[in-house]
Amino acid sequence: MDIYRNFKKTFCETWYHKLCLATVISVILVLASAGCVSLEGRTAQPTGNKVKALATLSVLADMVREVGKERVEVGSLVPVGRDTHTFQPTPRDSLKIREADVIFFNGMGLEVPLEGVIKGAMRKGVPIVVLSDGALPQEGNTGTDTEDNPHLWLDVRYAIHYVERIRDALATVDPKGAAEYEANARTYIGELRELDRYIERAISSIPPSRRKLVTFHDAFPYFAERYGLEIVGLVLKSPGREPSAREVAELAETIKSEGVSTVYTEPQFNAQILELIARDAGIRVSTLYSDALDENVPTYLVMMKYNVEKILEGLK
Ligand SMILES: [Zn+2]
Repeated sequence: MDIYRNFKKTFCETWYHKLCLATVISVILVLASAGCVSLEGRTAQPTGNKVKALATLSVLADMVREVGKERVEVGSLVPVGRDTHTFQPTPRDSLKIREADVIFFNGMGLEVPLEGVIKGAMRKGVPIVVLSDGALPQEGNTGTDTEDNPHLWLDVRYAIHYVERIRDALATVDPKGAAEYEANARTYIGELRELDRYIERAISSIPPSRRKLVTFHDAFPYFAERYGLEIVGLVLKSPGREPSAREVAELAETIKSEGVSTVYTEPQFNAQILELIARDAGIRVSTLYSDALDENVPTYLVMMKYNVEKILEGLK
């Protein structure tokens, strides 16, 4: 007690030291508000009032936003307009990852190149929710050869599965918000069911012999299967690998023999090759969105409607 009393006497009982102490506290507060000093610990506690969610793709982030609404702050790791399959995170992204209270993956191999960085930077105990888990039957064959393709969300029925998993994950991370997440998901799933019916009707209005798609990368097999289209050609056989001269020639031949009238690029790729093929064949070039949203197509719902319009315009 004596030591404390002496300290109190010598340090606090003059106006000069009071001023000093006030100055030190002000400096700390200014530095903290400027982000120079972190007052947050390095623990797995949520970092603010809102739940911070991070999704790998902008398309998935939009779904999380629809379910989380104002209780959740959502970011995406792959920036809008970038190719998901070849994206490399930077040290800046590590900060985003470290702040997240819950992380959403698509799964089916899509995040393999990102997994090391994410697991290295995330806080201990933060859940990674794989949205495609449980979407496809674990046993037996679905009758397609698309099991290894990660682009499930382009079939709206799988998007509904994603939304259900997002709802359940947010309710686990933030149980107080469970009723809100449930209500938001119900509304959103209603809109998605309507979207699914709309796409079905729209595509069935195209004559069957014209329902042929040539796309840039292999993102549309689930979409094609669900809505009755056939993928007849692709520019990129595998992500990040340019097609050989022989593959380009084969694709040009397929486009001619199948009587394709429009080919589809995607905004995140340089489409020069496909544009050249189309020019030679005298056919149209149009655009479809798959993995990445942008300012023209800011949500999943808008993206899907945009794609359907472009398919009707190009194939009908
Ligand atoms: Zn993709």
